[in-house]
Amino acid sequence: MKRSLLCLAAIAAALSGCSKGGHDAEGVTIDLAGAGRAGAALPRIMGSRDPARPLVVLDPGHGGKDPGATSPYGGRREKDVTLAVARAIRDALAASGRVRVAMTREDDRFLVLRDRYDIARRMGANLFISIHADAAPLNDGARGATIYTLSEVASDREAALLAEQQNKADAIGGATLSRDAGVNRVLIDLAQRESMGISADFAALLRREGAPYFPFRPDFHRFAALAVLKAPDVPSILFETGYLTNNIDAAYIESPEGQKQIAQGMKSAIETHFARRLYRIAAR
Ligand SMILES: [Zn+2]
Repeated sequence: MKRSLLCLAAIAAALSGCSKGGHDAEGVTIDLAGAGRAGAALPRIMGSRDPARPLVVLDPGHGGKDPGATSPYGGRREKDVTLAVARAIRDALAASGRVRVAMTREDDRFLVLRDRYDIARRMGANLFISIHADAAPLNDGARGATIYTLSEVASDREAALLAEQQNKADAIGGATLSRDAGVNRVLIDLAQRESMGISADFAALLRREGAPYFPFRPDFHRFAALAVLKAPDVPSILFETGYLTNNIDAAYIESPEGQKQIAQGMKSAIETHFARRLYRIAAR
């Protein structure tokens, strides 16, 4: 699989003149012509100082003029909760020092969805985790974490609705998603498929490692066409930490103690994920 991807990368680069393909221990990387804001500053990296260590980019959902959902229990806004949870995960990973870690935003600012995953791509991230908090205003009994990975077809109506809502965040910034012109669709599709497989593996691992620390929904892994997960060459998940509309979940994910528990489960999953990947690459 890897060999065929590399061949395609070389062919595509020669034919289109717009992509230079490469690879590292974690898979194929593609430079998309014109993608992202090339001059924009990249966030700082914390954790291991070894550039060979895997890089995790955490993406606190919403921010700035986009507050996300609001908790009916005390009025906390999703954009603040996601930032606090992401900071807790970052701090746990940095203290452990096994991986490198960066955040798409470290304060209350608005980012369009495309810029979020462009940051991960430009930094050469090995894993992208977008952090959110769920809301079900008409069902305050709904609780637990959910992990979304990319699918062109949403797995059910609820997932489709979420994709529609989340993708609307771009409209707030006046930007629209457009397909990259001049890139080799075959190459991108292949890389995307590989990333989707790795993302699904990570979703299962996060359920296993996170379950001792925080509750999951019974159907914890769902698929949706979420724009923020569309980096073709960075395995990506969207993690809904729990429901702001459920009083038990809200108290948990809004508290520093609950955020530390979430961070422990996430750290364990991330470190196990990369240990497995290294083992698989060494065994080839
Ligand atoms: Zn959200």
